[in-house]
Amino acid sequence: MVQVKAIKAFSDNYIWCLTTDNSNQAWVVDPGQAQPVLAYLAEHELTLGGILITHHHYDHTDGVAALVGAYPNISVYGPANSPFKGITHSLTDGQSISVLNINFTILATPGHTLDHICYTNDELAFTGDTLFSGGCGRLFEGTPKEMWESFNKLRELPASCSVYCTHEYTQANLAFAKAVEPRNPELLAYSKKVNELRSNNQISLPTSIGQELKINPFMRSDLPTITELVPGKFISVTKNNEPWGNFASLRQFKDNF
Ligand SMILES: [Zn+2]
Repeated sequence: MVQVKAIKAFSDNYIWCLTTDNSNQAWVVDPGQAQPVLAYLAEHELTLGGILITHHHYDHTDGVAALVGAYPNISVYGPANSPFKGITHSLTDGQSISVLNINFTILATPGHTLDHICYTNDELAFTGDTLFSGGCGRLFEGTPKEMWESFNKLRELPASCSVYCTHEYTQANLAFAKAVEPRNPELLAYSKKVNELRSNNQISLPTSIGQELKINPFMRSDLPTITELVPGKFISVTKNNEPWGNFASLRQFKDNF
């Protein structure tokens, strides 16, 4: 049985920690800081087995060197095309890896950055800064078309698949989602639930693919209802009705929200 726990870092990052029942080994995803990981491992009498990296940003990678210093020879998996230099096992789209006897398929998900990858199987998805609950990462390096194609890969995962993203951005994302779909009943119910969790200082994650398909405007941006619900808010980015046109408009709307 796999367990995934959140280790808090910076102001709103989660470093996800994977363990299984029959081992004292832990793997962590995107350790932007080493100290919270080292403290967590000590507190739970765990040893670090390896690291998964989704993309090169400092808040996902800055803890790697100190963790490798503390646990020499551990594996650091990450994208083959990453500018981050600490990766020992380079990964490309469609590749399979096994971590703690859990198989993951690598999905290349360019958009937020060009090197971004997600670690997925039918039960778990570590989506870094690509898919957030209620939102999506900013497009620092890729195009809306690339991000939309990345989202389409994630939309094909089972509805029950749990989604572990890196940031606690859910409340802010839902404020935007409600501006886009003010009458989506699933969204209003989810927003209420998240507000309750956050007011009790509880984390809003993981979410699931099924939940995001119901409430995340970026997962839903090919639905005609999205544009009809906010007349006048959308900027015409594409002229030929490309399927990623709504996605591009939404991202632009969010950037200025
Ligand atoms: Zn990032």
